[in-house]
Amino acid sequence: MKKISIIGGGIAGIEAAIFCRKEGFEVELISERDYLFIYPISIWIPVSTLSFQEATLSLSALAKKHNFSVILNKVIAINAVEKNITLENGEIRHTEHLIIATGSGKMKHPGLEHTLSICGEPSQSLALKTKIDALIAKGSGKIAFGFGGNPNDTSAVRGGPGFELFFNVHHKLKKLGIREHFEMTFFAPMPQPGARMGEKALSMMETMFNANHLQTRYGKKIKLFENDKIIFEDDSILESDLIMFIPAGHGSDLIGSSDLPTNKGGFIRIDSTCQIDGIDSWYAIGDSAAIEGPEWRAKQGHIAEMMARITAHNLAIDYLGKNGDKQTYHEHLNILCVMDMGNGAGFVYRDDTKALMLPMPIVGHWMKQLWGHYYKHSKLGHIPRLPGL
Ligand SMILES: Cc1cc2nc3c(=O)[nH]c(=O)nc-3n(C[C@H](O)[C@H](O)[C@H](O)COP(=O)(O)OP(=O)(O)OC[C@H]3O[C@@H](n4cnc5c(N)ncnc54)[C@H](O)[C@@H]3O)c2cc1C
Repeated sequence: MKKISIIGGGIAGIEAAIFCRKEGFEVELISERDYLFIYPISIWIPVSTLSFQEATLSLSALAKKHNFSVILNKVIAINAVEKNITLENGEIRHTEHLIIATGSGKMKHPGLEHTLSICGEPSQSLALKTKIDALIAKGSGKIAFGFGGNPNDTSAVRGGPGFELFFNVHHKLKKLGIREHFEMTFFAPMPQPGARMGEKALSMMETMFNANHLQTRYGKKIKLFENDKIIFEDDSILESDLIMFIPAGHGSDLIGSSDLPTNKGGFIRIDSTCQIDGIDSWYAIGDSAAIEGPEWRAKQGHIAEMMARITAHNLAIDYLGKNGDKQTYHEHLNILCVMDMGNGAGFVYRDDTKALMLPMPIVGHWMKQLWGHYYKHSKLGHIPRLPGL
């Protein structure tokens, strides 16, 4: 049986493992964590409506269900010319067929250590919970949430989870009857954060911010983070007892130190079939790949899964004699998400022809919760998968 090696046990890597197995490949998945972290539902960990455990899926359970093997180790070097990868334990493995699904690195900002991110290491969601609980116990304070940009690859900018957690914290403080004792500000360097969701979404967000006494500090570049403040390019200061900041994505150090082709943002350059430019039988998918396309394109979970499925299909055509045409990712690009607000949600959809944001009351919140259950139970084979999901 032809063997596919996959690096990364996130949303992209797991979907690739499942679909490569379905195509008939032997699969080994190399992951530094023994669990998949379901980032889209992790926004509820800091506000204590979801436990850390509930946002994870055990890799060994997934491997058992889909019959692939897992190597728990960190890849510390990738050599495309020699077609090998080096593990942290020093082992060098020849990998003829490889899928890289290692996610994204982060842009570096001075003083980043004074911030916590909902899009960082999974443990940061728990650190955020500790900070939020401490502020609630104190009964008042200043809270600043924001995200940064990456001029070299706008697809790697991630603001949605920042807004989601911001609204969830607001909702929690309101429920506790202490919201008016907190100053809550959202900051971003761009004049219109969230613009890629479309005009309607922007005006809806503005209405919600005004109605809920949420402040904004937009259009100023961030100079430096300190322990309890953000200093902007014009030396203006935003004080905060809790800084939640999502740096934009950037190619990871692992990719940067390899001989893989990268775009200006440090992500792995691929062709439309997800094959790495110029490297036969090596693919890159999900957040680690340079996604080309319209200005509004974004690195998202469902895009990572779609790339995983087409990669499995394309590998099967090349190496298992599967009939059919190779698939490409470009025609499947869109933005699709349910942006949770704690007591409701906004359904966001964007493609080349339309940009929608539909307000959904509590049912939207339940829909996102339901998706989390669907994701876990369908991956573990407890329930059938819906087509395309
Ligand atoms: C808080 C948050 C909320 C989100 N909400 C949504 C949403 O509502 N809808 C949506 O569509 N998308 C959402 N996204 C985006 C979505 O989660 C990502 O696009 C998706 O997780 C990308 O999957 P990935 O597998 O490429 O990367 P990741 O999920 O980051 O997984 C990468 C994996 O690779 C492993 N790895 C990395 N380096 C190595 C190494 N050197 N050796 C071994 N293993 C390694 C990591 O441990 C990790 O398990 C959200 C993201 C975040 C952070």
